[in-house]
Formats: sequence, structure tokens, C-alpha cells
Amino acid sequence: MPPHHGGAHMGLSPMNRARLVIFNAALGPLDYRVPEGMAVEPGSVVVAPLGPRQIVGIVWEEERLPASAVPDSRLRPLIGVIPVPPLQAALRRLIEWTADYYCAPIAAVARMVLASGGALRGPATITEYRLSGGAPERMTPQRAAAIDARGGEQATIRELAGIAGVSEGVLRGLVNQGVLEPVEVDCDRPYPRAGADFAVPELSEDQAQVAGRFVVAVEERRFAPFLLDGVTGSGKTEAYFEAIAASLRLGRQTLVLLPEIALTEAFLRRFEDRFGAAPVVWHSSLKSTERRRAWRAIAAGTAQVVVGARSALFLPYRNLGLIVVDEAHEISFKQDEGVRYNARDVAVMRARFESLPVILASATPALESLQMAESGVYEKVELESRFGGAEMPSIDTVNLTEEPPERGRWLAPRLVEGMRERLARGEQSLLFLNRRGYAPLTLCRKCGYRFQCPNCTAWLVEHRLSRRLACHHCGHETAPPLACPECGEPDCMVACGPGVERIADEVAAIMPEARIAVATSDTLNSPEKAAEFVAMAEEGAIDVIVGTQLVTKGFHFPELTLVGVVDADLGLEGGDLRAAERTYQQVAQVAGRAGRGAKPGEVLIQTRHPEAPVIAALAGGDRDAFYAAETEARRHAGAPPFGRWAAIIVSSEDEAEAREAANRIGATRPVLPDVAILGPAPAPLSLLRGRYRYRLLINARRSAQVQDVIREWLGALTFPSGVRVSIDIDPYSFV
Ligand code: ADP
Ligand code: ZN
Repeated sequence: MPPHHGGAHMGLSPMNRARLVIFNAALGPLDYRVPEGMAVEPGSVVVAPLGPRQIVGIVWEEERLPASAVPDSRLRPLIGVIPVPPLQAALRRLIEWTADYYCAPIAAVARMVLASGGALRGPATITEYRLSGGAPERMTPQRAAAIDARGGEQATIRELAGIAGVSEGVLRGLVNQGVLEPVEVDCDRPYPRAGADFAVPELSEDQAQVAGRFVVAVEERRFAPFLLDGVTGSGKTEAYFEAIAASLRLGRQTLVLLPEIALTEAFLRRFEDRFGAAPVVWHSSLKSTERRRAWRAIAAGTAQVVVGARSALFLPYRNLGLIVVDEAHEISFKQDEGVRYNARDVAVMRARFESLPVILASATPALESLQMAESGVYEKVELESRFGGAEMPSIDTVNLTEEPPERGRWLAPRLVEGMRERLARGEQSLLFLNRRGYAPLTLCRKCGYRFQCPNCTAWLVEHRLSRRLACHHCGHETAPPLACPECGEPDCMVACGPGVERIADEVAAIMPEARIAVATSDTLNSPEKAAEFVAMAEEGAIDVIVGTQLVTKGFHFPELTLVGVVDADLGLEGGDLRAAERTYQQVAQVAGRAGRGAKPGEVLIQTRHPEAPVIAALAGGDRDAFYAAETEARRHAGAPPFGRWAAIIVSSEDEAEAREAANRIGATRPVLPDVAILGPAPAPLSLLRGRYRYRLLINARRSAQVQDVIREWLGALTFPSGVRVSIDIDPYSFV
């Protein structure tokens, strides 16, 4: 790491005091003395004393971070500077903006930048092991598995144990016998280089036109927000790959945000085909050594392209040239804990602070994004037809009232018929139902007892594959009881309603010869499993896929020609203001999986309400009319993007304490002409992870300074230590 040029970089005298953002949300900024000979500048990552402990902090501009002044004589000296590049000014501005906009402590936002503790330590190596060529004294099945693991590629003991499914003891035994030999590996070894021109595709005329606009913006290094609105299968990825190529040629970094880890596998392969090397991956399940390596390469500027989940957005890129948000309509870009930010929106802000293009890609853009394009803030670029002449699928509804499934079943005869035809022709079907597990509700056949989570206002969901009753909110799990906890009836459980596992059982009963895959976050819970699923589906080793929203996007299976939506009404029940939009997006996305190759696709939507506007729009292929009607409804309700929402969520393990705190907030509500405040009311999820919850909802005109109003309002109140008050700006969840 090069030495740092302290305050001298702007011709100022070196800093002798430093104000720090420290990673303790309870404490504000703190001032320290910079000892003689230590060079720091705004953005430097430093170690400072706090009481008897040492803490990490970031040096910040004093004037941007008000704190009570401490005289020089009372300041304690900084202990040291961590040898990583100082956070750049544009990133500091982004941190401030995010903290301010989402009403979050600046320390909580800054912590997301330094997301890897290991990265802050100096150079390091890890020990990996590889086969020496020797044989063990005695071969056992475990030893054989350990030797076969990863085709003999080297890895750490822990990784090898994980891959081979054997204990670390087995591997240590092999090390002792010299079958495995150690190799010291540099933690920060460079990543393989991607090449902009490795395999340049021939773009369609439409794609070339779109890509050309991106490339110009990348080369001009200017803030340019694009909304890439293209139907499913139109080749959006290939089009934005050209923007990435342009960024690579300029030696600048690119960040690609994806909504789910499960999508990264397919993306990685496509990326490698195009650029000759894999991008750097960033997500929450990285091992600490991988995290460290990625973080340091990102900060050093050697990570050329980073693909990741929303948390990749706050990393300290040295030389960012482009941001892509793929499937930008996905609500998983909104974080619902801690700093409740929306990565799509913060991505646009980051692009603005750093003067770069940002591409929001989607086949079903969020209404907010379309409105931004409408009002000229975003530049809309369109791909109107599928690549390579593939047709859009035909979409039809199945009215469940007129064509009901057989008793105790969920698939209507017409859908079953369609699946049989596909199976006979060697094609694939996909059934979409956004419910994990076997059944959403389980009761006792004798007394009607409903199995409920002890920590949440939620039913326990039966998972037959893993033989568990599970809460989807807190993760609580139990083995299915042998008898009813209420009346003691043995073997009492009755499943109510379908989940994907139950649909898979039904398919197996109807077509015993079909090869069925259940695709949910339970079954595709690691990149390896996701990769295996994709490979099997592509090879035609799966006839029927039954999946949740996880399978609605990203995947490209040419033999998939039938999509069945098991229950299109599900998302509309008791939903919030975005329910219709979300249903439209989900069904349009899953429909988009059908007929992407040479063979035409067909989509059957099971519903009890074929006349509902969203269902009619889907069946009629009339997206514009749907969006227009939805836009009018939002305008009328003063909902986003025409008005603003914010939520205040009050919780405590003590129900009375939560209620009192919420009531006190309610009683001190400000009265303002352009702000309406609803509640407090018990949240729909009134108990979550053992905490009782109350909500207030704020609806304001666009022009209102909602954040200031909330800060002033809540800032005047104090609460018992057991009470948590969270603020959710632009909320997506209303439970
Ligand atoms: P989208 O992201 O818009 O749904 P994709 O980018 O996945 O669409 O493209 C659909 C399919 O067409 C993919 O299999 C992709 O590899 C292929 N494709 C798109 N553009 C090209 C191109 N220019 N040359 C070759 N294949 C392409
Ligand atoms: Zn629970």
C-alpha cells in the first residue's frame, strides 16, 4: 500500500485534530489529536482509543459533522492509520446522503463500507492443501471422498471438509500421512483479468442502438441514469454487457447489482463466456477470506467487475465507471432491517455523486422508475421484441370457478393436459406458486388447533422435504409433533392449502414418470445448488419445475414451453397499494420464462377473478393500459411516486411498553397541512421475533420535508431502553 499524503494534499497544513465517525451508533462523532508524524486526511481509516478499548473510525470533515468542541488539551491521540486507501469524498457524500435520507446513524451506513473486518488487516496468507500424489495407508470411504473432492483442486481444510462432506479430522489425518500437502496462498492474489473483446457478440440492430447510447455515456464519464425497458428475452444483458466492455476498456470498475444470489450463478457463466474471466462476487455468504480478498481488490481498483447483492453498493470502489441494477423492479433491493435503504435508489445517487452512468434494467419496471423516465429524469431505452425472432408467449386465463381442479387438487384439467403434452414432446413445464413448503397452514383434525409460531403472529409452515414445521418470519423450527399439543390426538396434522411441495406431489401423482424439481430458497440455498439446478434444467434432466418467485426471473431454458401460474389471486389478497403492480410483475416475469428458444411458449394463469384489471391486462398483453390505470390510482391516493410515504415502527418485548411508546408518539404528532399521519395501530405482524409491534404511517406531499418532520418529532421524545423505534422511508413492507 503506498504511503498516504496527509493534509498536505490540498496545500493545507497537516491535520493535527481529527473528527471521527466511529462504529458505535450510540456514540456521536468523537475528536482526537493526530500525533506528530502521523498523516491523516478525510476518509482515512484509523484506530483510536475509547476508554480502555481500541476502535476503528473514519476521519471526517469537521464542518460536515457537528459535535461539541473539545479543547486540544483534552484530546487523546490516535493510535494508528490502517493501510487502506482513504474513503473518497464522493463516497463520504453518499454516506451522508444515505444517513440523512433514510434517517439512519451515519456510523451504521459507514459500517457497510468497511464490510470486512479482515480486509483491514495487513498482508496475509492462508494455507490450502493439495494432493501430493501419495496414497493413504488404508483407504476408507471418507478418505476416498476427501481425495476426490473438487477434482483434486486445492482448498483449505474447512472448504475440503465442506465439499467432501467429511469431518476436518479425516483431512488432518490425510495431511499427517502426507497425502495432502500444504501450500501457502496469498489472500490478496489478483483476480483473473476480464477482456472487453474476449467474445464480442453480434448485436441485433435494436441492441446495437441501445448499447451505443450506454457506451457513449460511459466514455463521457457523466451522470446518466438509464431505464432499460425491454421485454423478457429481448437481450438486455447482452446490451448492457457492451457498456461493461466500454468501462473495462477505460480501465474503470463496474458494479452489477442482482436481486438474489441464486441468479448470480447463471450470470457468472454468461459473463465468463463474454469476457473470458469470472467477475468478482460479493454477497453475504462469502467466506471471510473471500470477503477480504474482494474488498481489498475493490478498494485497490483491481476488481474490474463486481457482481453482488445490494450490500455491494457501499463498497469503496477506487475507480467506478458504471453501475448496472438488473431486475431493477425487484423489491429485494429494499433492505428492511438496520439501514432501511433501497439499493436501486441509492445506486442512482452514487452514480450522481461519482458522475457515472447507471442502468436500471427490467422487463417490468417499477412504476416509480417509469414515472422518472416520463418526467425526463431517467433516459428510457427500449428493446421491444425478443432476441433472435423468438415470439412472446401466448397468455390465457383458466377460470377456476368454471374449470375447477379435481377435489383435493390444485391444477385445473387444462393445465394438466398442457403439462402432459409437454412431457410427451420432451419439453419442460414450469409451475409458479409463491409459497414455500408443503402447506401454509396446518391444523389438528380433531380440535382444529392451528400450529402457530411462538415468537410471531404467523402460522407454522409444514416442510415435508425437511420434515419440519417452520416460521418464515423468524426461522423458528420444530419437528412435526406426534400428537396435537392441544387435545392430544395422535397423528393429527391436516394440511390446509398448497405450497410448492404439495404441488410437486400432485404432479408426481398425475405424471409418475415426470422428473420434478422444487425450486425455492429452501432447495436452492447455495450457489452450488443453484448451479446444479440450472445445469440439470438446461440439459433437459428436469421435466417439471415447481417454484416460487425465485424462478420467475433470469433463467433461460430453451425447452421450457409451458408456464402455469397456480394461483394468480394470491398476491392480491389483503395486499397493500403495490399488490396489483407486484402481481403484474411476477406473472409477467414468470410468463417470460416460456418459449425463449425456437419453440413457442404458452402461459396459463389460474384465477377466480379473470375480470380483475391486472389479470385482464396480463391476458390481453396490455401493459400500457395496466400501468396507466395503476398510475392514476396512485396519483389519486397520493401514493408514490406522486406522494411520499414513511413508516414508524415501534417494538418491545413488553406489549404494554410498546403500546405506550406508540401512543406517546401518536399523541405528539405534528399537525402540518401537507402531511397526514395514520395510527398508531398494531402491525399486521403484531408479534415478530418475540417483539410486539405498532405502526404509524405518514403520507405526505412530495414537497414535504418528511425526514426533517420525523427527526424533529421523535427527537423530542425519549423511550425506555427496551423500546426500539425504526423509521422506514419509502417503505415496501407494510406488515
Ligand atoms: P433478457 O435479459 O432481456 O431477458 P437475455 O439477455 O437473457 O434477455 O437474452 C435472451 C437470450 O438471447 C439469451 O440466451 C442470450 O444469450 C441470447 N442473446 C441475446 N442477445 C444476443 C446476441 N446479440 N447474440 C447472441 N445471443 C444473444
Ligand atoms: Zn416466528
